[in-house]
Amino acid sequence: MRTQRQVVDYALQRRALLAEVYSGRVGTTEVCDASPYLLRAAKFHGQPSDVTCPVCRKEPLTLVSWVYGDELKHASGSARTPEELLRMAAIFDEFRVYAVEVCRTCGWNHLVRSYVLGNGGTDVDRPRGPRRRTASE
Ligand SMILES: [Zn+2]
Repeated sequence: MRTQRQVVDYALQRRALLAEVYSGRVGTTEVCDASPYLLRAAKFHGQPSDVTCPVCRKEPLTLVSWVYGDELKHASGSARTPEELLRMAAIFDEFRVYAVEVCRTCGWNHLVRSYVLGNGGTDVDRPRGPRRRTASE
């Protein structure tokens, strides 16, 4: 698999928010607010994780990967399966992936990490000119 670049980890924010929830300073209704759109994405594009939901502890969390990038055009802002991410990483120069964990039982959701995928930029010295691509690629 292509390496993930510019990885941003949100574990610290997640832990801080959960501490607030456990202490009662933040209500579960405030953090378990997954939209129907996110829940649907989890159902169709998500991958099961081995992490149990930290709020309801009833089921393993589902990871949903959202992709963003100018190059993606209309596909920007959509959820993708791991297989699709691999395929896209080979086609596009660069796009950012936001991995969100979601509990399909209670609606807990949080950003886990974001990173950049794509076939460009692996060599920073490589000249980055505009390149044409066809739909068949
Ligand atoms: Zn849950």
